[in-house]
Amino acid sequence: MLLDERGVSTLPDLPTPDFAFDPHQPGACVAGLRPYRKNSYRLDKEVLGDKFVIHNYGHGGGGITLSWGCAAKVRDMILKRQAETGIIEREIAVIGAGVMGMTAATLLLDLGLNVTIYSDRKPVETTSYKAGGQWAASILEYSKDFAKVQEFQYILRTAYTMFKASIGKGFGVSEVDNYSVNTTSGIDVVHDLVPGLLPPREYLQRLPFEGHNTSGYRYRTLLVEPPIFIPRLERDLRARGVTFVSRRFINSTDVLTSLTQKVVINCTGLGAKDLWNDNQMISYRGQLAMLRPQVNLEYLYGQNGYLFPRHDHVVIGGTVEESDDEVFDPETCRGLVEYMAGVFGQTPAVPMPEYHVHHPRNERLVDPRLSIAP
Ligand SMILES: Cc1cc2nc3c(=O)[nH]c(=O)nc-3n(C[C@H](O)[C@H](O)[C@H](O)COP(=O)(O)OP(=O)(O)OC[C@H]3O[C@@H](n4cnc5c(N)ncnc54)[C@H](O)[C@@H]3O)c2cc1C
Repeated sequence: MLLDERGVSTLPDLPTPDFAFDPHQPGACVAGLRPYRKNSYRLDKEVLGDKFVIHNYGHGGGGITLSWGCAAKVRDMILKRQAETGIIEREIAVIGAGVMGMTAATLLLDLGLNVTIYSDRKPVETTSYKAGGQWAASILEYSKDFAKVQEFQYILRTAYTMFKASIGKGFGVSEVDNYSVNTTSGIDVVHDLVPGLLPPREYLQRLPFEGHNTSGYRYRTLLVEPPIFIPRLERDLRARGVTFVSRRFINSTDVLTSLTQKVVINCTGLGAKDLWNDNQMISYRGQLAMLRPQVNLEYLYGQNGYLFPRHDHVVIGGTVEESDDEVFDPETCRGLVEYMAGVFGQTPAVPMPEYHVHHPRNERLVDPRLSIAP
């Protein structure tokens, strides 16, 4: 690292984004509902009548990140069931066409099983498609039960390893630096739980950006671009013979009585709140502003909000609002962009909008990509 005579980092400044933005253009603003769950995500099994049901939902702001790892746990539960009963149920129903349903379906196909995906939304209409895409474990909490911690370690290791192995293979995955003013707990939790999995975090005495005189951190993680990753999962599944059935289930009885398959994988995200009567689910809306794509930007950035340059857009996010209303407000998106442009010295600095840190009812909620120390 380059240091001046005072020992201050003199890394050359990285390119400044072009913050030109019209919130009223089609596609300029996006709102999605993060499926948070109090205490922890749900990844467990139950036997209900003649059905073996595996639940895989409630991954908050980290579902893309954890997907392959949770899918591997689903596969392991099926293998254990096969070993225990001596029966191989070949027909599997997956409910949900988001990242959790489609990654689970992929690994179940690898076992030679026949998978049908039921969903009331197409993959490109799901929350998964709307995500920013940083590989960071942003969940509300994870269980501190020893077995669950081990499970979480397995999920993190498996997910990261699988995503990393898919770099350069058309899944929209790349390895990137993330510069952030504060520590990023969604990545630090990975450093704590699986030391050595990610390259170490570096302290920088000055972040290398126009308008910055502050210290910060450089992390190395992955970017998973949902507009590439989600359609790729769907294409691969269809090519391998998976049928997608458009279907809305009203409640668990509907699932249990109407499906012919005896094995059901419940990957319904926020939908599990009503479908499985899970009142630990909480919906946190995230609004994102979509700037034009800028290929010269090869970093992620975080300061009370984030900036993720992707192939489709430079994404500026993300609000954290307790709401189950999936609509965006153009003025909120404009505020996100103005705030970020001010941080880069491009417009007069504006105060951090209040909704960035608005955590009603649950003070413990931390969205690590917002760089708020726990
Ligand atoms: C603004 C925003 C930014 C985010 N950024 C990131 C990020 O940078 N990194 C990251 O890892 N994660 C991020 N996330 C979180 C991530 O998007 C979610 O955790 C993830 O998409 C959850 O996946 P899922 O498959 O469980 O749910 P979903 O994608 O919501 O899929 C649920 C599926 O279940 C179906 N379904 C639900 N109920 C029913 C029913 N009753 N009958 C039939 N079908 C049903 C739906 O149609 C859908 O197909 C972000 C989320 C948002 C909103």
